[in-house]
Amino acid sequence: MDKHNDYYDSYERRSAYRYRQNKRRKRARNQFIVIATVCVILAIAVITGICLAVAGSNSASVATPDTAATPPNSTDLTTVPVTTTASPTTTVAPTKPNTEPNESPEVNPTSPLEPIVTADGRTLDPNKPFLALTFDDGPSTEYTEKVLKILQKYNARATFFVVGSRAENNPDILKDIVNAGCQIGNHTMAHSDLTDQSSSAALAAVEDVNDIIYDATGVNCHIVRPPYGSFDDSVCSTLSAYPLILWDVDTNDWRTGRTKSDIVDCVMDNAHTAAVVLMHDIHKVTMDSVEDIVKGLTEKGYQLVTIDEVYALQGIELLGGTVHN
Ligand SMILES: [Zn+2]
Repeated sequence: MDKHNDYYDSYERRSAYRYRQNKRRKRARNQFIVIATVCVILAIAVITGICLAVAGSNSASVATPDTAATPPNSTDLTTVPVTTTASPTTTVAPTKPNTEPNESPEVNPTSPLEPIVTADGRTLDPNKPFLALTFDDGPSTEYTEKVLKILQKYNARATFFVVGSRAENNPDILKDIVNAGCQIGNHTMAHSDLTDQSSSAALAAVEDVNDIIYDATGVNCHIVRPPYGSFDDSVCSTLSAYPLILWDVDTNDWRTGRTKSDIVDCVMDNAHTAAVVLMHDIHKVTMDSVEDIVKGLTEKGYQLVTIDEVYALQGIELLGGTVHN
């Protein structure tokens, strides 16, 4: 009986063991199926997500022009009636007004100016500082040549508004002014106030000097600086063929007691692009100041140019009978 019981017990234990093992295997298989199913679902979800993302980015890049077109359209609407339904192609419209003014022969102050190549081979850049030094009342046998040498040393240019009574006795100085690449302007025959003269006298006071300049140099002088900067409507009408050139930086170098540092400081403190600086090459203190002025301005990056050049660099046409400063 004990044997039978032992056998039976062992049989039962084995059966129970197999039963538990089968149950464990089934549970494991079921768990595997569940996990595998979840993995497949997750994989499908991930792949689907990636596909959607790729498709989304492609469609977004295609749609970009539409969204990018919105700001130009909205700016267009500031000038175009609101009822206009602008297409995306209007995005190119803003570039058109920028190119058209360049093709116009008219000077447009808003259009970028191109560098100027001068007759003597200099390239002048309107986007860099430039100004014009001017010397009145000469030529002076004592100082003008020395001023020219300083200008040449720094490859600088200036304009000399000569008085006829001095110019006619010094044709060689006039030639040297031209040979130095500088410009000659007309400061009348006898430095008389043009507003005090008849039209015919005022015209003769200018044209006699032009004859002197032409005889000495072969250059047609075409700019006038009225003595004392004095002009009125009658003068402008009489000198309708000649631009009248004033200044906007006055060194007052002719005043008694004016020192070299006064003059140099005046120029350096007031220098600006397109400035026209007034000096007189008949004073020693002026001549003594010129090197510091030219050197200082050159070191500051200024292009020292003639009157014709200072206006050309601004795109300004010099007009006869018109005052420029
Ligand atoms: Zn003068």
